[in-house]
Amino acid sequence: TVSLDQLVAWLARFRELVSQQQGYLTELDSAIGDADHGSNMTRGMTAVMEKIGVSHDDGTQATLVDELFKSVGMTLVTSVGGASGPLYGTFFLRMGTTAGPVTTLDGAALSAALRAGLGGVVARGKAEAGDKTMFDAMAPALDALDASLATGGDCVTATAAAFSAAKAGRDATEPLVARKGRASYLGERSSGHLDPGATSTALLFEALADTLG
Ligand code: ADP
Ligand code: MG
Ligand code: MG
Repeated sequence: TVSLDQLVAWLARFRELVSQQQGYLTELDSAIGDADHGSNMTRGMTAVMEKIGVSHDDGTQATLVDELFKSVGMTLVTSVGGASGPLYGTFFLRMGTTAGPVTTLDGAALSAALRAGLGGVVARGKAEAGDKTMFDAMAPALDALDASLATGGDCVTATAAAFSAAKAGRDATEPLVARKGRASYLGERSSGHLDPGATSTALLFEALADTLG
């Protein structure tokens, strides 16, 4: 079972990882985009960590999973101009809606919330497998999470499996030709580079595995 504090720790660890790897994410985006993915994610997650300390108008913190993720999602949508802001923002908004007004998530509820988040990314960005986007790290991560839970894995084992699959999915974006987002403007020249969004999504699952492991 995952507590609200652990979910906040996940977000804090994600912020730490994107800010540590800001330069690398931006370097990846400079090859096939506009060189702002590291700064977009760092700005967004910094705003998130400032905001979730004071989610309510009266300055108190979120006490329920849905209000926590709603606050995260709204903050990303409003603080990040790029494609990744609305996409990660929708991811967290959908996670919140699906989790509902609860204080903890068991493995099945965590999986359901993450899967709803992925559904939000697809609803917003229309990416499919192999389009060279964050989808290509996120979808295999969730499949691995579910496979582990289905065979009796606990949250520790399942999130480690998800991280491992996210890294494999990230690495598999390198030869792909982008079919969504700015990188698609490059056509065949987008091949030979890792996708920046798939790389930050691997960090999202690294943060989850670090926090629950
Ligand atoms: P921008 O491209 O607006 O500068 P970012 O650089 O922050 O935004 O994010 C780029 C990343 O967003 C890409 O590497 C890709 O993973 C992801 N992305 C772009 N468009 C889509 C889409 N339609 N669906 C899913 N992910 C997308
Ligand atoms: Mg960019
Ligand atoms: Mg941009």
